[in-house]
Amino acid sequence: MKPVFHAKLLNDYFGDPCLFVRILYERRAVLFDLGNIHSLKPSDLYKITDVFVTHTHMDHFIGFDTLLRAILRREVPLNIYGPPSVLPCVQGKLKGYTWNLIEDYPAKINVFAYNGRYLTHSIFSAKNRFRKQTLSRAESDGLLLRNPMFTVRAVKLDHSMPCLAYSLEEKFHINIDKALLIRKGLEVGAWLNDFKRILREHPGDTQQIIRICDKDFTVAELSDIARITRGQKISFATDIALKPNNFARLITLIKDSDFFFCEAYFLEKDQARAIERSHLTAKAAGSIAKKAGVKKLELMHFSPKYRECPDKVIEEAMGEFCG
Ligand SMILES: [Zn+2]
Ligand SMILES: [Zn+2]
Repeated sequence: MKPVFHAKLLNDYFGDPCLFVRILYERRAVLFDLGNIHSLKPSDLYKITDVFVTHTHMDHFIGFDTLLRAILRREVPLNIYGPPSVLPCVQGKLKGYTWNLIEDYPAKINVFAYNGRYLTHSIFSAKNRFRKQTLSRAESDGLLLRNPMFTVRAVKLDHSMPCLAYSLEEKFHINIDKALLIRKGLEVGAWLNDFKRILREHPGDTQQIIRICDKDFTVAELSDIARITRGQKISFATDIALKPNNFARLITLIKDSDFFFCEAYFLEKDQARAIERSHLTAKAAGSIAKKAGVKKLELMHFSPKYRECPDKVIEEAMGEFCG
């Protein structure tokens, strides 16, 4: 199976937790948390269409300006999701500059603020000098984004402030049986992308037409070359207080993820400090991942106090996860 999502953490264990996820065949990417993103090339920054911010502490939001600069002349809007604090923080950042010569720029920033019950959509347009316009407020169960290929869900957790955790889920995965395709006298080509797009956008409509080398085929004629399997699931959670309520909500969200990216800020021996700072311990991260049945636990966001001994943090989390 060739995965559709290619996820990579942008920084080391002690850097800001930012997860860049490239979406294959889509020429786009999504980003989880917006801390230090300087390692991304301008061409990668340009691909980012959606950013999912857990909360607006500096180490999770300082990259906003870098991203804004990269997409200022882009037609495709930038969508930013986050807890309620994301709206005044985007507005505050935009107010930090003078915008008198950008009215002919196409840039648009949609901000979706989720408080655990309502989703508020506001927009900032360059042509309007990035003045805030609030468009809608609607009840939401946490499904923040849905398109033909994937969904993104969030839950509100507590970090002495509202903090969102996210799950990115491919609706289903399409594997092409290339051997059968060749036996049918067809060639691998760009038409496969159209075929996959039709399967995703018009599920069940077998009469849709695909053109292959000047010949038309219906989806029904080609359906045996496509094997549909479960899609990929990637979850991201950081800066979470050690509270049973947080654990229960998070476990439900991340259930059966292929990859779970999670903070491991403190060691269990420093639990008192973890409680004070509303962070998880490595042991708690391992336990949550295990209870949720995730396949792979990826650790991030360690306290600088463990700079000399990151292995201890990894051991503690993995001991709990695998034990
Ligand atoms: Zn924080
Ligand atoms: Zn943090």
